[in-house]
Amino acid sequence: MSSGVRLLVLGKQGAGKGTQAVRIARHSGVPHISTGDMFRAAAASRTPFGLKAKEFMKRGELVPDDIVIGVVAERLAKEDVVDVGFVLDGFPRTRVQAEELQRLLGPGGLDAALDIDVPTDVVIDRISGRRVCRTCGATYHVDKPPKVKWLCDKDGGDVVQREDDQPEAIKRRLELYERETGPLLEFYDGLGLLATVDGVGEPDDVFDRINDGVETVRALRLPSSRGPR
Ligand SMILES: [Zn+2]
Repeated sequence: MSSGVRLLVLGKQGAGKGTQAVRIARHSGVPHISTGDMFRAAAASRTPFGLKAKEFMKRGELVPDDIVIGVVAERLAKEDVVDVGFVLDGFPRTRVQAEELQRLLGPGGLDAALDIDVPTDVVIDRISGRRVCRTCGATYHVDKPPKVKWLCDKDGGDVVQREDDQPEAIKRRLELYERETGPLLEFYDGLGLLATVDGVGEPDDVFDRINDGVETVRALRLPSSRGPR
């Protein structure tokens, strides 16, 4: 991937989306913009939309679309992004947000929407194998347990499976994700921007596939959207 990309990364929980998003950003020398970090930063620096978003978060309510989009617009207008590009992680969540983002960036403003695809049963295996220290929150995996059986290496706390990580709970979250994201994938596919990448296997191999996928989408789009008009 050459430097200066404008990408967004989609993928269900456990697909390795966050890890790969950080890696692409570092590799391409662009900011990694995760939704969580972006909202915290906007609230802390008291931007107009950041302050509005904070009100909803304080009350534990879902931040409405127009405010979410406002926060994103403020972030994408910053110099570091305008100069080189970005990797968006966790946004958009809905089709409405995706349409707004397209409007914001304009045609040719997004290089690709990357979908890191991992089958549901693989994701359930990954997440349901996770174990967490009750005391400090350190995470382990059934394949990589603490040294002393199920006592935390750091503080000796009990290492347990969270209720959220049990298969039934994971399945419910994944179903919700698919309901929300299905229309997004269709939207980006229709724009010729969707790059679906097989997310099963070693992180290095997945990263190589990502590079290939993004290059393919860019090459296909080159004549119409990036050429002289
Ligand atoms: Zn611990």
